[in-house]
Amino acid sequence: MNKQTATKNLDEIITKVEGARLKISEHHIVKIIGISKYSTAEDINTLYEAGQRAFGENKVQDLKEKMQELEELPIEWHFVGTLQKNKINNLIDLNPTLIQSLDSLPLAIELNQKLESKNKKLSALLQINSAYEDTKSGVMPEVAVEIYKQIIELCPNIILKGVMSIGAHVSDEKVIKESFKTTKKIYDEVVPLGAKYCSMGMSGDFELAIASGSNMIRVGSTLFKD
Ligand SMILES: *Cc1c(COP(=O)(O)O)cnc(C)c1O
Repeated sequence: MNKQTATKNLDEIITKVEGARLKISEHHIVKIIGISKYSTAEDINTLYEAGQRAFGENKVQDLKEKMQELEELPIEWHFVGTLQKNKINNLIDLNPTLIQSLDSLPLAIELNQKLESKNKKLSALLQINSAYEDTKSGVMPEVAVEIYKQIIELCPNIILKGVMSIGAHVSDEKVIKESFKTTKKIYDEVVPLGAKYCSMGMSGDFELAIASGSNMIRVGSTLFKD
């Protein structure tokens, strides 16, 4: 990807984000996370030069390699993938800005134990399976608020900062919107508990997600397209 393409991709996304967020409020700020899982460190560097500062990976090993390759840049790194228990220590050592994919109470408890033993804290979002899809990770919407509270109570080394969802994998916009609304409703319930981020919306549905109240989007393919 050359600089011109990177700038064009980013500008197009920013323009759409602006349009969508201003329909909610001038003060509705949306953070853009570039999901670089199918891209190279070189492409990330090009997008950095175009102005993008936050990136996310879904594999601990890939995150590690790209962080090392780009260590001189002040990039904010997010983890958005399924976290295997045997990778927890590696992820902690990378000190990511935000783990967006905390998808169960047992995982939270294990992460907390390992954080405690290293005397560290990490920020995370609780992933919710608002689309009720078997292929997706996350807690069920019905128990999400309760689990959110339990993590706060039982896991003092995890700083919970909100919720994350992947929109329904269907073409019917109404169904996708419904899944976003489910997540937003849960987010509203945990705002009094300190939640700051409602992370939802990817390349194909981020405008819809913002219209539904998202304040953090995760765009991969449209940002990195050639
Ligand atoms: C890959 C991925 C994205 C980005 O998906 P695109 O459709 O390429 O924008 C966002 N969130 C998560 C959790 C992902 O794994």
